[in-house]
Amino acid sequence: MFHIYCPWCQEHREEEEFHAKGPAHLARPKDPEACSDEEWGDYLFFRDNPRGVHHELWVHAVGCRKFFNITRNTVTYEITGNLPKIGEQPGAKRAGRSGDLTGAPGSTRSGQ
Ligand SMILES: [Zn+2]
Repeated sequence: MFHIYCPWCQEHREEEEFHAKGPAHLARPKDPEACSDEEWGDYLFFRDNPRGVHHELWVHAVGCRKFFNITRNTVTYEITGNLPKIGEQPGAKRAGRSGDLTGAPGSTRSGQ
């Protein structure tokens, strides 16, 4: 069984409750009307498929229905954290504050 930590519910839940929604920090073009068809197509349809550490956007679809970012190793499935926050670039520093998701545990495995 694979568990994912939801930073909003603040608990580990079964993987079936979540859906991956693609890469985190995917920037929508600021002016879609100014994009060429190729640029817009790249934004809509083409994604990197890295081997190793990857930042992803997930939604707790059968829970709180909120979105959050995780850092996951695509080889080992290990989730190393729920960082960085939506809207922040990987590696960006930010000030700590209450409700901060820094340090939230990523995932746990059991039953193997
Ligand atoms: Zn949740």
